[in-house]
Amino acid sequence: RVDAVDGPAESGVHAFLHVDADGALAAAADVDARRAAGERLGPLAGVPLALKDVITTSDMPTTAGSRILDGWRPPYDATIARRLREADVVVLGKTNMDEFAMGSSTENSAFGPTRNPWDMTRIPGGSGGGSAASLAAYEAPLAIGTDTGGSIRQPAALTGTVGVKPTYGGVSRYGLIACASSLDQAGPCARTVLDAALLHSVVAGHDALDATSIDQPVPDVVGAARRGAEGDLTGLRVGVVKEFGGEGYQAGVEARFNDAVAQLSKLGAEVVEVSCPNFVYALPAYYLILPSEVSSNLARFDAMRYGLRVGDDGTRSAEEVMNRTRGAGFGAEAKRRIMLGTYALSSGYYDAYYGQAQKVRTLVARDFEAAFGRVDVLVSPTTPTTAFPIGERVDDPLAMYRNDLCTIPSNLAGNASASFPCGLADEDGLPVGLHVMAPVLADDRLYRVGAALE
Ligand code: GLN
Repeated sequence: RVDAVDGPAESGVHAFLHVDADGALAAAADVDARRAAGERLGPLAGVPLALKDVITTSDMPTTAGSRILDGWRPPYDATIARRLREADVVVLGKTNMDEFAMGSSTENSAFGPTRNPWDMTRIPGGSGGGSAASLAAYEAPLAIGTDTGGSIRQPAALTGTVGVKPTYGGVSRYGLIACASSLDQAGPCARTVLDAALLHSVVAGHDALDATSIDQPVPDVVGAARRGAEGDLTGLRVGVVKEFGGEGYQAGVEARFNDAVAQLSKLGAEVVEVSCPNFVYALPAYYLILPSEVSSNLARFDAMRYGLRVGDDGTRSAEEVMNRTRGAGFGAEAKRRIMLGTYALSSGYYDAYYGQAQKVRTLVARDFEAAFGRVDVLVSPTTPTTAFPIGERVDDPLAMYRNDLCTIPSNLAGNASASFPCGLADEDGLPVGLHVMAPVLADDRLYRVGAALE
């Protein structure tokens, strides 16, 4: 039993912002009682799960890692939360994250960082560091993350766990507090590939409440994981992205990546090198598109509608209360991105920045299209380095942003991608992730590859 946030069970990892011990125990007892009564149970009955605190839950607070949502209780459950309950999953609580999912280390959480269970002086990745750390610390077997530029895959890589970003529109965004709506995608986090597939199959599928939800059958991810586990990849064409590697990549990361590629070929896959020339522009384009959407999405936190309200003593105007609330409620990174985005969208600059970035986005999507004409999946390291020390990159946003070099193209294009553990780097003994990218709605291919390597 997890008794309290930061209690003995967490041992300083700080994966959770909120633990619903009573609710979880009641849900587990309910599953037991219904099982004893011979009732038909959901597919993940009684399995505990950690939910990233950006998913709204009517029975628990939801903070998105921000002070600005202080005291706010969502009036409804996100579709993901509802589907988890229908599957009889036991939700343990809400996990720590970078504020509004902006960050690569979980150090931007207003509630303090999460530590990497592999080395408590290091970050667990971000923004979904809490979800990944809860798995690596064996606090939960399953977790839900969200991935706007890598926030499921990068923490998975740095904690030696499995993280999947489904095809954009594959999992409902209804009730997911928006970071950048055209990039955000929730998905499964787990310690094994089959566990991730089972969770994927429970949360994925069309939702009329999300206008961008895809109205098509969910790919057979569980079947693919089971077939992949047989270890035969004959007929699979794998493309190694030429642009990702070399300078800036840690030697131990490259070594484990090369081992994984050699293993794929040993299992029967045909491996070729593929060039995606526009992928190198994905990162700068993302850091215009994302802040633009953030500046618009975070405008709703106006001191009137949600959570925190500062300075409302009856003498101040609504505008002043709003200014004080946003000043006190948002952290430095949220403010930086609101300002960048407001600038990029302002008249006179829109075409030069936002408009150009959208063109790059199209070029990145075309690179994927061309590549997937030749191969079934693309691979790269998930991150250029293993987990870095807490504090190392907090004052250097550009160094922080470079973590997402390899993961961002899939968010721009909307295709499915995942990170699978592929061993430990020699120099520091820390986990390395293999990044696998598949076409839109071919999420099953990720699981086939991941399970074959496991
Ligand atoms: N680290 C990236 C960012 O800061 C990705 C965030 C995410 O995927 N939510 O924007």
